[in-house]
Amino acid sequence: MEYRRLGKAGLKVSQLSLGSWVTFGKQVDRSKARELMAMALDNGINFFDNAEVYAAGESEKIMGEVIKELKWPREKFVISTKFFWGIQEGVNLRNTLNRKYLVQAMDGSLKRLNMDFVDIVYCHRPDPETPIEETVFTMHDMITQGKALYWGTSEWSAAEIMEAWQVADRHHLHKPIVEQPQYNLFHRARVEKEYARLYKDIGLGLTTWSPLASGILSGKYLKGIPEGSRLSMGSLSWLREHAEDERKIEAVQSFVGLARETGFTPSQLAIAWCSSNPVVSSVILGATSEAQLKENIGSLELMPQMSDLKRQIDTIFDGIP
Ligand code: NDP
Repeated sequence: MEYRRLGKAGLKVSQLSLGSWVTFGKQVDRSKARELMAMALDNGINFFDNAEVYAAGESEKIMGEVIKELKWPREKFVISTKFFWGIQEGVNLRNTLNRKYLVQAMDGSLKRLNMDFVDIVYCHRPDPETPIEETVFTMHDMITQGKALYWGTSEWSAAEIMEAWQVADRHHLHKPIVEQPQYNLFHRARVEKEYARLYKDIGLGLTTWSPLASGILSGKYLKGIPEGSRLSMGSLSWLREHAEDERKIEAVQSFVGLARETGFTPSQLAIAWCSSNPVVSSVILGATSEAQLKENIGSLELMPQMSDLKRQIDTIFDGIP
């Protein structure tokens, strides 16, 4: 496992990390979460990604309990949370990055995680209704109060990230150091084109999500939707459109063939492809079983072959944005 700096920040994260969206508190209970987290740490993963909204706070609770049970020393791991959607009904409690929501949300997360601070806090989406100065000052305050060590954004446009960075620069505040975008073989433009200048200009780091496009790049949906899989979940039916897109199905079929030739699995090839992009600090994995996590961590063994495989992969996914 390699440990990469988050952009130009000093913090180092493992090139593969473990996240809990859809899994912890939904498909994965506490004892299974414990197995997954223990396996992750044993294999060198030091970064664990969470969010207030995952399973409406339950995911943070589970992660906090597991860390306590496993007696992990605080300095051994990096943990994140994210704010925007909120988990309570009411004014100033949903879809905002205003100061009141953010301050209260952070206190709620720390309580659920049973921690004094998180290492990274993300603004989970941009909020066009709150002045950027208000959000940037609040994120800065979270850091000076010791409730977070670093802050970043998730799914913000390049222009929005730049604006936040400039506000922080002008007022000598803690700057956003990391963005958390979707990045996989179906979804590359933002990381490869839109953000291109930010890596050099402001030293932005990336922790990327959905390396398997929710499991589709594993090839398991080529023969329908397996029971219990993510795409079988009613609340996530919007994800099915990718699995039903003719062009994407063809690409996944060829990709499965290429993976077979390498002797690795399609999931391993898809994850190694994400991690082989040097602007990516950490690829956040999702898993519902130890077998999946073990397989996905096995992608590390493919890394030395990636420069030779990239051209073939590009050809397979050519024309898919
Ligand atoms: P993936 O695209 O890798 O999807 C993971 C899911 O795919 C698993 O839960 C599992 O679902 C299936 N899967 C995983 N490995 C395999 C395998 N080897 N073979 C077959 N199926 C497999 O990642 P996620 O979408 O889960 O994203 C990872 C993390 O990124 C999240 O946990 C979260 O922390 C973060 N994230 C952040 C977002 C943001 O807005 N900032 C948005 C989304 C995610 P199943 O078994 O149910 O089919």
